[in-house]
Amino acid sequence: PQAELQQEEIIYRSKLPDIYIPSHLPLHSYCFQNIANVASRPCLINGTTGKVYTYAEVELTARRIASGLNKLGIQQRQVIMLLLPNTPEFVLSFLGASFRGAIATAANPFFTRAEVSKHAKGSNARLIITQASYVDKVKEFAQDNDVMVMCIDSAPEGCLHFSELTQADDNDLPEVDIASEDVVALPYSSGTTGLPKGVMLTHKGLVTSVAQQVDGENPNLYFRSEDVILCILPMFHIYALNSIMLCGLRVGAAILIMQKFEIGLALELIQKYKVTIAPIVPPIMFTIAKSSETDKYDLSSVRMVKSGGAPLGKELEDAVRAKFPGAKLGQPPLSHCYRPVWNRRLFEPATTTLDFHLLQLNANGYGMTEAGPVLAMCLGFAKEPFEIKSGACGTVVRNAEMKIVDPDTGSSLPRNQAGEICIRGDQIMKGYLNDPEATARTIDKDGWLHTGDIGYIDDDDELFIVDRLKELIKYKGFQVAPAELEAMLIAHPDIIDAAVVGMKDEAVGEVPVAFVVKSGKSEISEDEIKQYISKQVVYYKRISRVFFIEAIPKAPSGKILRKELRAKLATKKH
Ligand code: AMP
Repeated sequence: PQAELQQEEIIYRSKLPDIYIPSHLPLHSYCFQNIANVASRPCLINGTTGKVYTYAEVELTARRIASGLNKLGIQQRQVIMLLLPNTPEFVLSFLGASFRGAIATAANPFFTRAEVSKHAKGSNARLIITQASYVDKVKEFAQDNDVMVMCIDSAPEGCLHFSELTQADDNDLPEVDIASEDVVALPYSSGTTGLPKGVMLTHKGLVTSVAQQVDGENPNLYFRSEDVILCILPMFHIYALNSIMLCGLRVGAAILIMQKFEIGLALELIQKYKVTIAPIVPPIMFTIAKSSETDKYDLSSVRMVKSGGAPLGKELEDAVRAKFPGAKLGQPPLSHCYRPVWNRRLFEPATTTLDFHLLQLNANGYGMTEAGPVLAMCLGFAKEPFEIKSGACGTVVRNAEMKIVDPDTGSSLPRNQAGEICIRGDQIMKGYLNDPEATARTIDKDGWLHTGDIGYIDDDDELFIVDRLKELIKYKGFQVAPAELEAMLIAHPDIIDAAVVGMKDEAVGEVPVAFVVKSGKSEISEDEIKQYISKQVVYYKRISRVFFIEAIPKAPSGKILRKELRAKLATKKH
């Protein structure tokens, strides 16, 4: 009957067959499952100091750290917070927490004091591992909340030294019974709406996600144990943590850790350690492409350059290709990637052009923290010849289900029709920490995670993302949650109401801009408002423009009509 037919769900799966995934294993056991084969091989290389840790050393140190955490009183399922740049200690602490059955959350070390405190408080962190230069950001909070602070490089007054953990006896660690549903990582994300929330990723979730990328025959992400993988992308973001660090560990590759991008050093390290895989972002690509220094170095070891986070233009791509002659470039040409298949019910003509501005039209993967994070990947790395359809971000990961739903009716849509991308599988988050309502809004009763992204699947099972339904703003891949900035704006005595939306920006993707309703006689200026916010937030959340307005357009429910504001933006002169 018609009614039943309508309810039938259209579900898409990977082009690759499902594989066996040992999702009963704790994350560390899974990562080190094949350690016997790689024990004496380099695992972590500190790009700053040149210190190399073998697999055996990393595993032993992580167990010692677990024991040390236990000695400090960190219980199973308690949270430790990492406030660190990319360093081996970041990785070792994360793995140590996993061995302990504890949970690691990582904050951006560039966060302001207020942002760090919010993160530490929200996650209920019992220990903060940081370095001396950031102690000022956490000292007060730690004292007031009885939280321990530890530094990896020294022990300023009131702080512990990292050696307390690394010099503990691993034999003292009691048996820890870890359930596959236990949380191991707690990255932060605002999801489809509201403030940043703790995303609970379990042992099972991360094991599944890593396996979806690197396990089995013909894996999506083709890492091998001989690889040397450059890790310059920030480890506090789940992408580097999962798709570089955990995937690298699982295959037994060496991970070359760089704290910050500096062209000369990067080229030197690539040559010295014979880097084979370089996951980077377009701004770094740009620097490499423009650099005359590249000629001085032998970069022929690089076999794969992966670029994500923002589109890469054709010219830039060609320039990078010339610099890395031996490498495949994990990014399709942009020249004709624009393939708008648009569904009139979703995109009214008046806003379509504008909405398309907000897209990252091209990438070789698609991730969202809550999804574990990888939803789709290009198979190009595993297959010969190298081929990715222009504008696509790959096919859904194996051992998972994807559907595209009409956001108004909730019914699932056939191929080539755009709707909200939903995913289901063991890899997705368990939920948001202490926020059952937000969890229920994001994961429905049938286990589908609603991404807030709009896309479609074509006849070849390739996914195209065409719009973002949710309010999230992305600056060079970093999250900016409008709700966070709106709360700050409204707290100002001269501001009655405010709304923040993203504005397209060539260099960084999107920047936050604010619409503000001033109180009666207030003469507050755009600059004053910008400064007021700048003092409170990390650089990428700074408001780039302020537009004064009579009233914020809202639905009867009180919800801000962001589409209307974005449409207004289109009419403004920038
Ligand atoms: P995050 O949780 O910080 O990784 O941000 C996830 C969001 O980034 C997604 O829900 C998308 O809105 C956006 N995003 C990630 N990958 C892509 C892509 N390949 N194309 C377009 N948008 C993307």
